[in-house]
Amino acid sequence: MPSAPGGPRLLLRRLREIMAEPVGAQDRLDRIVTQIAANMVAEVCSVYVMRGDGVLELFATEGLKREAVHLTTMRSGEGLVGLIASTAEPLALSDAQSHPSFSYKPETGEEIYHAFLGVPLLRAGNTLGVLVVQNRTYRVYTEEEVEALQTTAMVVAEMLATGELQALAPVETGIALRRPVYQKGVALADGVGLGYVVLHEPRVVVKNLIAENVEAELSRLESAIAEVRLSIDELIERGDVAHHGEHREVLETFRMFAHDQGWLRRMREAVTSGLTAEAAVERVQSDNRARMLRQTDPYLRERLHDLDDLANRLLHRLVGRNLVAERSHLPENAIIVARSMGPAALLDYDRSRLRGLVLEEGGPTSHIAIVARALGIPAVGEVPNATSLTEPGDAIIVDGAAGEVQIRPNPDVEAAYAEKARLRARRQEQYLKLRDVPSVSKDGVEVTLQINAGLVVDLPHIAETGAAGVGLFRTELQFMIAERMPSASEQQALYSTVFAEAGDRPVTFRTLDIGGDKILPYMQAVEEENPALGWRAIRIGLDRPGLLRAQIRALLKAAAGRPLKIMFPMVATCDEFERAKQIVEREKTHLANHGHPLPCDLKLGVMLEVPSLLFQLKEICESADFISLGTNDLMQFLFAIDRENRRVADRFDPLSAPMLRALEMVAEHAQAAGCQATVCGEIGGRPLEAMALVGLGFRSLSMSPAAIGPVKAMLLETNVAELNALIREELKNAGGGETLRPRLAHFAETHGIPV
Ligand code: PEP
Ligand code: MG
Repeated sequence: MPSAPGGPRLLLRRLREIMAEPVGAQDRLDRIVTQIAANMVAEVCSVYVMRGDGVLELFATEGLKREAVHLTTMRSGEGLVGLIASTAEPLALSDAQSHPSFSYKPETGEEIYHAFLGVPLLRAGNTLGVLVVQNRTYRVYTEEEVEALQTTAMVVAEMLATGELQALAPVETGIALRRPVYQKGVALADGVGLGYVVLHEPRVVVKNLIAENVEAELSRLESAIAEVRLSIDELIERGDVAHHGEHREVLETFRMFAHDQGWLRRMREAVTSGLTAEAAVERVQSDNRARMLRQTDPYLRERLHDLDDLANRLLHRLVGRNLVAERSHLPENAIIVARSMGPAALLDYDRSRLRGLVLEEGGPTSHIAIVARALGIPAVGEVPNATSLTEPGDAIIVDGAAGEVQIRPNPDVEAAYAEKARLRARRQEQYLKLRDVPSVSKDGVEVTLQINAGLVVDLPHIAETGAAGVGLFRTELQFMIAERMPSASEQQALYSTVFAEAGDRPVTFRTLDIGGDKILPYMQAVEEENPALGWRAIRIGLDRPGLLRAQIRALLKAAAGRPLKIMFPMVATCDEFERAKQIVEREKTHLANHGHPLPCDLKLGVMLEVPSLLFQLKEICESADFISLGTNDLMQFLFAIDRENRRVADRFDPLSAPMLRALEMVAEHAQAAGCQATVCGEIGGRPLEAMALVGLGFRSLSMSPAAIGPVKAMLLETNVAELNALIREELKNAGGGETLRPRLAHFAETHGIPV
């Protein structure tokens, strides 16, 4: 191609004029291809659009035979155009026909053209089609020409995104913009939600693509870059590494990228070719997103995500608007889609309008998942590219039980899920009927069912579910959702509210379980190689007793005249528990000396979640008033699997022989010592696992509120003696790490136990 007449800037200006002309969609597209061909001195310019069925269709051409328009099609991956669509990368060839992917379409008459340059039509990382120019000669396209065509492609992609071309596509398929997408993630919170996408961090929509004054745009870009660099430096220097949930490592990566010459050069070049500063950022971001969607290496994907975040920051600076989602003015049936999110942010949304939550990150035991469950919002985590694949207002379905998301579902899928949601609602009604039915097994064994809680929003669930009390109150949640450290009186106020709501039902408070994955946004984070094994929970409490003392005092005061149960997390030795008991004793004496009324009964217990306690069972069961099994952490430490790491978190089954033997051992020791043992990890709320726990001898379970109904329904149909005999026998015979799940599921099925 000889040098383009007028260059890319003139072309962009012409395209802008064409976009504004009052003509039909086909006309406009025809004019666009004619203009591009003329400007780039190409004999052919064609636009292929991705239809909803994934097929690329020739929508307009200058140079190829007109009859081929809306007739020539190819699948993604087929031919050169299909190759560009599937790789989302430009392709420049001096002799297209000798390329192995070349596929001849006789109706187009393209056999006379040799040189070929094609670029993807990208928007938010999705490939909407392909833009191609062709020449008869065997010429080599320069890098500048590739750049120029990519920039032009952005304008065409924008036209596609407006939906104007929708009418030109077959009605059955539409264009790819509206294609349904199914994504599999990880189940975080049960329930089915149908609604519309609300992006937690709305994307900047760049409307103004074409620069009036390139110099001015360049200087806007430079100052936005400088501002973003400065803000990152400030965040790092402040040492406030957990600020806005950002960690030092992320910020350091940001800083590195913000100085990355390749990235900056590409944005500058895009401005020089005639785009506005924000369009240039988006252009480069779009390429990056396309790479991100195809990247399977988690580390590289993470880095591309960082680059994406950085581009977002730049866009926010350039467009200069406050883009935080209107949390209090949500549309009806909102489904929040976010890359990641803290529990406090979720609580900021108007609960009555929330129907679901979709995250790109967040495992089942993450705190956002715990809060979603507390609020009864169906949630799915680890949904790849959720934010890139959705647009605000898209229809979306969240299946929190299966861990699936349907984006822009077709009507059949939508109807199926609507039916599923109705069925669930009916089942919930039946569980509601069980509310006042005693939780007793078929053969008369009573099992105490309590709820896990940690927030004020959890408390109405006590009455709604008919639970016997709160078996685990995670006091750290108040700290995690606060902007600053809750004062002693704020803590006391929360505990008093909990007592008031619980009425005469018991509440077991767990002292602060912070550290590890539970980071307080306002506290200086300690850099640790292995935070889950680091300075956390009771370890902090014993080393820096100020915080623990204040909390215990708040608990004792709030419980004045009432029974109080306190337990300590992450206890690894009996000695640690003894020291914790002494702290409580000291606080009690202090309050008594100052004339404060004390709890009428005080019971102190330990969380059994560190395996070392399995080898101190006799002693711990004798010295503790009760124990509570934190099976989330116990599994993590017993099998050495990071509970937040999906690659390994599901590698071992809690119903496998090693875990069941550990649990059996605990149940037996606790029984022998007359020490009450509760299971408060997530497995207590899963009917099949809960059935196994009851079979092992546990008579107290604490679970998420939504699990009370299903677990009680299981219990009512279970013959515990029979089950116990089966489990004992199976455990005797089980070899190695074998799982008992199939046997237990079979038992449930043959005995008509709903699990
Ligand atoms: C557990 O570890 O099982 C538990 C109940 O505590 P958390 O999930 O808060 O660590
Ligand atoms: Mg734990």
